[in-house]
Amino acid sequence: MIALVTGASRGIGRAIALRLACDGIPVVINYLNNQKAAESAVEEIGNAGGRACAIQADTGDPDQVNQLFQQAENRFGPIDILVNNAGILHRGNIDSYDPVAMSAMLKTNLDSVIHCTRAAAPNMRKNRDGRIVNISSIAAHGTAAAGTTWYAPTKAAVESLTRRFALELGPAGIRVNAVAPGFILTDMVDPANREEVVKTMAAKAVLGRCGTPEDIAGAVAFLVSDQARFITGQILTVDGGRTDFLSH
Ligand code: NAP
Repeated sequence: MIALVTGASRGIGRAIALRLACDGIPVVINYLNNQKAAESAVEEIGNAGGRACAIQADTGDPDQVNQLFQQAENRFGPIDILVNNAGILHRGNIDSYDPVAMSAMLKTNLDSVIHCTRAAAPNMRKNRDGRIVNISSIAAHGTAAAGTTWYAPTKAAVESLTRRFALELGPAGIRVNAVAPGFILTDMVDPANREEVVKTMAAKAVLGRCGTPEDIAGAVAFLVSDQARFITGQILTVDGGRTDFLSH
C-alpha cells in the first residue's frame, strides 16, 4: 500500500502523513509553497524508520496533479490510499463577497478532490482496491462559525462528491469516505486572537477542548484501514461533540 496526502506540509495533512507512516505505509507528502515544512515531515518519518517523499504541486491544477501522480508512482509505485486534505479558508459573508477568494476556495477545496480522485481511480480500479478519504468540515453541516458562509458550500460539495464517488467506484472495490473535522488547532486559526478563539471553541464542544490534527489523523487511519473494509460513502464527524451540543 502507498499513500498520498495532499497539503501535508502542515496542520492536519502533516499529522495524517505521520500517522499513516507510523502504521507502516510509505507516504507521498504533497505541498504547495512550504518546501521546508514538507521536507521536515519527510525527515521526521525517516527518523522514525518510515518511508516518505515530498512532491510540490497545486492540486487545484489538473496538469500539476497528473505530474504529481506520475512522480509519486516513479518514486514509490501507484497510489492505493488517497487523502484529499488540501484546503483553504477565506472568510466572508453576504456583505463581503469576494469572487476571487471564492474561486480560489473552489479550486483548492473542490477541484483538487476531483482532479486527484480522477488521477487515482485508474490504478485503484485495476487493483480492485482503493481507499479515499476527503477532508470536509462541520461548516458543511450548517454550524454557526462566523465568516464561513462561502467556505461552507465548498465543503458541502466535497461531501456530495464523497457519496457520488463512493457510488461510482464502489463496484470496483474502491471505498470513498469523508472526515468532517470540528475546530482543530492549526495555522488556519487566526493568530491575531488565537487565545480567545481557543477558549470559545473549546467551550462549544461537549468534550470541552479544541481538536488536534492527531485527532483527525486517527479517524483517517481507521477509514483507510482494513478495519473499515465495509464502510463507504460515509461522513465521519470528528468534532468533540460540538455539532450535537449546538443542536440542543
Ligand atoms: P493548514 O494548516 O492551513 O494547512 C493547509 C495545507 O494545505 C498546507 O500543507 C498547504 O501547503 C496545503 N495547500 C493549500 N493549498 C494547496 C494547493 N492548492 N495544493 C496543494 N496543497 C495546498 O490547514 P488545516 O487546518 O490543516 O486544514 C486541512 C484541511 O482540513 C482543509 O481541507 C481544511 O478545510 C480542513 N478543515 C480544517 C479545520 C480546522 O479547524 N483547522 C476544520 C475543518 C476542516 P503549503 O504549506 O505548502 O502552503
